[in-house]
Order: sequence, then C-alpha cells, then structure tokens
Amino acid sequence: MIDIRTFMLVLGIGNIGFAMLMAGYARSAADNPALRVWAWAKLVQGCAHLLGWLRPDLPWIGVTIAANTTLILGSAVEVAAYCTFFGFPRWRRVLYPCAALALLVFHGARVAHTSANGLVVLMSLVIASCSGAMAFILLRAGPDHSLLRRVIGYNDLAFCVVMSLRAYNGIADGGLTVFAPSLVQSASYLTGYLLMIVNGFGFLLLCKEKDDQQLARLATTDSLTGLVNRRAFFDRTDSARLLATRLRSPIALMMIDIDHFKRLNDHYGHATGDEALCLFADTARQALRDHDIMGRLGGEEFALVLPCTDLEGALQAAERLRHAVAAAPLPAGGHQYGMTISIGVVVIDPNEHINSALARADHALYAAKSGGRDRVESGEPRLRVVGGRDSMPA
Ligand code: GH3
Ligand code: MG
Ligand code: MG
Repeated sequence: MIDIRTFMLVLGIGNIGFAMLMAGYARSAADNPALRVWAWAKLVQGCAHLLGWLRPDLPWIGVTIAANTTLILGSAVEVAAYCTFFGFPRWRRVLYPCAALALLVFHGARVAHTSANGLVVLMSLVIASCSGAMAFILLRAGPDHSLLRRVIGYNDLAFCVVMSLRAYNGIADGGLTVFAPSLVQSASYLTGYLLMIVNGFGFLLLCKEKDDQQLARLATTDSLTGLVNRRAFFDRTDSARLLATRLRSPIALMMIDIDHFKRLNDHYGHATGDEALCLFADTARQALRDHDIMGRLGGEEFALVLPCTDLEGALQAAERLRHAVAAAPLPAGGHQYGMTISIGVVVIDPNEHINSALARADHALYAAKSGGRDRVESGEPRLRVVGGRDSMPA
C-alpha cells in the first residue's frame, strides 16, 4: 500500500510545478486564455493537495474546508480550461451551476454531520464527474482529433473510472477515510499521479500543437483572402500534377485576373479593392469543388488547378466562375459594382513544368483581355519538347 499523505505532498508540489511551467510558457507563447486558466487550475489543485497533506498536523476545521473547497474549484477550473481551449460554446451556463451545486452538496453534507466515508464518496463523485467531463471534451469526434488528444482523453477516462470505483467502494463497504490505505485508495492516488503527469505535459503539448498548426496556416495562407498563397499553391499544384501523371488523368489550370481593378481602386479606394478581392475569393470557393486548388499569386491575379478535369470541363468551370463573379454584387460608393474577370485555361501536359503551364495560361489570359475582357480563352497546346526544354507556341 502507498502512503497517502506522502502522495498528497507529491501531488501538491507537482501541480504547483506544472502551474509554474505553464505560466512560464504562457509568457512566451501566443496569447492563449485557456493556458492561463489551466495554470490557475493547477495552482489551486496544488494548494488543495498541500492543505490535505497538512490536515493531520493542523486538525482545524478551516483547513479541511479549505482543502475540499479548493479541490472542487481546481477541478472545475481545469474543466473550464478545456472548454476554453476547444471552444465549447456556452460552457459557463453548465459548469458554473454544476460547480456551485457540488460545493453546496459537499458542505451541506458536512454541516449535516455526514460520516467521513460519506464525504469521501461525495468528493470522489465530484472529481469523477470533472474527469468524465474532460474525457468527453477530449474524446468527442472533431476535425483535429489527434492521437495526443486521445491519449489525454483516455487518461482522464481511466481516472474517472477509478474515482467512481472509489465512490462505489465507499458506498458498498463503508469505512473509507481520506488517509486509510487500501487497494482502491492506492489505485486512485496512483492514477491521480499519472493524470497529473499526462495532463500536465499533455496540455502543454496541445497548446504547442495548436500554435504550430496556426503557424503552418499563416505560412501557407494569403491573409487577406484566406486562399493558399503563392508558395503553397506551387507546392500543392506540383503534388496534384504528379498524382495526375501517375493516374493518367487530365489536370487543368486557369489564370484569372480581375478586370479594370486599378480603376476600381482609384474610384472607390483601396479598402473597397480589398473587399472586392475577398468577395471574389468567397464566390470562387462556393463555385468550385473541394479538391480544386485556388491560389492568390499576387495582387488581383489568381491561379486555379482542377484535378481530374479535361479542357472541356475546365472551360465549363471557368464560365461558371465568370458568371458567379458577375452575379455577385460588390457594395461600392452607395451602389452595387459589377465586377468581371478574365480567364485563361490550359490542360497541363504530363511531365510539363508548372511554370510552363502557367506561362501558357497567362498567354490565354492575355488573349481574353485583348478580346475585350469578361471572357474565357483556352491556351494553345504545348509544343513538343525540343532539346529537353519546353517551347511556347508563337
Ligand atoms: P486589367 O483589366 O487589364 O487587368 O486592368 P487592371 O486595372 O486590373 O490592371 P492591373 O492588373 O495591372 O491592376 C492591378 C492593380 O491591383 C494595381 C494595384 O494597385 C492593385 N492591387 C494589387 N494588390 C492589391 C491589394 O492587395 N489590394 C488592393 N486593393 N489592390 C491591389
Ligand atoms: Mg486586372
Ligand atoms: Mg493584374
């Protein structure tokens, strides 16, 4: 059997240590309210365990009340940190009343002179509910359901089960007290220790994972329109082109340019120009398929790659996009401005370099501009490779 009192000291110091670690990380990391809430939870839990450890030496009722109150509050604040981290809507409406009810029931039971066994059962149920809530938040299905999240979630679930068994043991056998060494007590403190370690490092790694995802998003996304930026577009297009070559499926490319954009900027201001770029991006997103790759190459020039699409399909998609943009009114200067686009379309040849395909699409785009704008033109097919180098049609 383990020495429960020593374990309380270890849990107290450990939780305060994690609180300090988190506070240090929060200073240098991107602003993350969940991290601050979590650090507070660990600090309060650490204090609760230290107060519990002090109880045999300071047998005042105030110490016992403070130890139990801080443990309930610390557990509830940890749930709050997870709700904040995963963006649970309206969690305050559920958590605040539940935490208040737990405090009321526990201290009501104390005032009603409930036995020590009964109080331990109640406390075990409160802690089991908090770990169960955290396990639910972590293990519910979601798009970012990472292995790390599952490991922490199952750890919370294990602690919830052990604390429920502890409560069951108290109800079935009685005689359970805080410091009484027994198998179920040892199991609950050992899993509590494991929980502290796994959740402590786990939450830190979750924050790091989120920050890394955010950085990766920033590095590949155009901040104004939310489309992929030039570099990411080239990377993704290259992968799509290699896949298309392997599957022997056609892959089309478009160059798109907003017509008379300079005029729009000069007339209505740069901010309206920016709104026009966002409107175009939103309209294109709605008009295209999920696996099409749309990138902003710079200014008001966009490129679009359509996997598994031949020239006929690409021309239809281009017309659909052109009509969708023309039908999307832009509020400018108190009226609706009708924006139009010109598009150059080509099919990328197997083994053709992306720059060569872009040059051909650009050529077609130039033809669309010269032909009067607000139109779609298809590019010349690629000339045969001469001497190992691509050559453009005259
Ligand atoms: P055309 O029909 O021939 O394409 O004419 P155009 O006026 O659109 O000509 P051009 O493509 O050369 O115009 C590009 C303009 O786009 C010039 C620049 O001021 C503007 N621009 C580039 N980037 C941005 C941006 O991020 N926001 C805004 N508002 N304007 C931009
Ligand atoms: Mg333009
Ligand atoms: Mg342009």
